[in-house]
Amino acid sequence: MRTTRFFLSTLKEAPSDAEVISHQLMLRAGMIKRLAAGIYTWMPIGLRVLRKVEKIIREEMNDAGAIELSMPAVQPAELWQESGRWEKYGPELLRCKDRHQRDFVIGPTHEEVITDVVRREVKSYRQLPVHFYQIQIKFRDEIRPRFGIMRGREFLMKDGYSFHSSFDDLQREYRNIFDTYTRIFTRLGLKFRAVAADTGSIGGTGSHEFHVLADSGEDALAYCPDSDFAANVELAEALAPPDGRSAATVDLQRVATPDRIRCEDVAAFLDIPVTRTVKAIAIMLNDAAAGSARLALILLRGDHQLNELKAQKTIGEFRFAREDEIAAVLGSPPGYIGPVGIANIPVFADRSVAVMSDFVCGANAKGFHLVGVNFVRDLDEPTLVDDFRNVVAGDRSPDGRGTLELCRGIEVGHIFQLRSKYAEALKCSFLDESGQGQVMEMGCYGIGVTRVVGAAIEQGHDQRGIILPAAIAPFQVCIVPMAYAKSDTVRAAADALYAELMHAGIDVLLDDRNERPGVMFAEMELVGIPHRVVVSERGLAAGKFEYKGRVDAESQILPMTEICQFLKNRLCAA
Ligand code: ATP
Ligand code: MG
Repeated sequence: MRTTRFFLSTLKEAPSDAEVISHQLMLRAGMIKRLAAGIYTWMPIGLRVLRKVEKIIREEMNDAGAIELSMPAVQPAELWQESGRWEKYGPELLRCKDRHQRDFVIGPTHEEVITDVVRREVKSYRQLPVHFYQIQIKFRDEIRPRFGIMRGREFLMKDGYSFHSSFDDLQREYRNIFDTYTRIFTRLGLKFRAVAADTGSIGGTGSHEFHVLADSGEDALAYCPDSDFAANVELAEALAPPDGRSAATVDLQRVATPDRIRCEDVAAFLDIPVTRTVKAIAIMLNDAAAGSARLALILLRGDHQLNELKAQKTIGEFRFAREDEIAAVLGSPPGYIGPVGIANIPVFADRSVAVMSDFVCGANAKGFHLVGVNFVRDLDEPTLVDDFRNVVAGDRSPDGRGTLELCRGIEVGHIFQLRSKYAEALKCSFLDESGQGQVMEMGCYGIGVTRVVGAAIEQGHDQRGIILPAAIAPFQVCIVPMAYAKSDTVRAAADALYAELMHAGIDVLLDDRNERPGVMFAEMELVGIPHRVVVSERGLAAGKFEYKGRVDAESQILPMTEICQFLKNRLCAA
């Protein structure tokens, strides 16, 4: 490609509303242009990156035995009603009507459509297993679209769905795709980690997420450096402390703690470690029998954070109580509530709280806390003890083989064993060897193709711009001639080199503009081209080109005759 026949539209400054570096740099490099919140046009330079990511994914999926098809973005509501997700999906599902007032959705995912295809096409065990995938636009009306294309509303996903005659075969394919994803993200040049994941609203059991490691990641991950344990913090289990509860050593006392609401502040005021405090979180449980909501408390150690997902799993659906609801039952504002002296209120205690003695908690009176609190003596044992908190660094690993560390990640892939969730709802069955009808086992496998581009830039950038691995850079090599328009020798040599590299199968951009060298260098660096060759009259006189890698500190002078092989070697090594 020649720059004069291409379209670059870089910016000097990043727009101020871009929160993360990848978003800033993608805008500055002119890779994407915003059309509406979470909806972007992929400009030519950005699209080249996206297409290369797609190509790697497609090659590996084909190699893994999956078969590509393409399903419609617009899907009839009936299918979603059949699966039950028309009601369940909530406002992320964009619904619309056609001219006949029939309901449709813009697909946020394609389980319904693929299951419909398979139930019509696959009748016999002989046609199984089968794995279909597509690389296709999704629309999710995200509540907070942000980070540019990383959490967009319209985005490109590789979604694959496999169908099996047995759970064993589903598990085999799940491992196959786990390995395939590992190869994909390795080829994409990303630092990543696969973690055990929650199955979320999609349902089913058995799930892993693939995360690109980056401080800006939205997800917290827990892993054990001494074993292969790794899980999303949403899921990672916090074990019960190894030691049981000690006996009470002090009397119960009510102390004034004016204006101290947060556990850290109460601890500082009382000059005790925050690990001696207990916080109470008031929630409203659905009391179906009474037809109303009922207040309950979740107790956590002062330094721990509630894990809502775990709590919902144990307790069932709940919402946080409002101030007036708390005041009505406990007679206190939220900052001073606690589990002592409350009758008939369910108390759910985290495992770490259940072993505490002589602790501090709210006194259910504004401006007061209780110190020296002990179970049995001062309050009943909790209604229920379970894991309700997020793990923290230093917790014991759930596999018992070391302690946990935390890091942040950007979820770029997600694989699920859906089992029979959709197949059952949509009556997707087959005849087994004995002619019996059976529901299919199903797996689904997604990669956020657009998100991969943002994640790669989160990992690869410097103050001059984007640094991408050659496998997904917009161009692998750029040729920057000095005075292309003025010097016949430079132009001839640059054109010849361009032809030679193209012939060698290298994806090369010849910057044939009449720009100052500094401008061209800066632009090529900003858009993330990993290799640069400078052609100048002085160099040509000595039979040399100047080469510089995007991350090299110094350039090198190379004989003209060797440059093509040199670049090929570099590109192979990458
Ligand atoms: P998240 O928790 O980030 O919302 P998800 O669990 O909803 O993701 P899946 O339904 O598993 O995502 O979709 C498969 C992949 O699609 C995700 O792993 C992610 O990489 C990508 N993805 C999901 N939502 C978005 C979005 N709003 N913008 C860009 N990519 C997305
Ligand atoms: Mg989501």
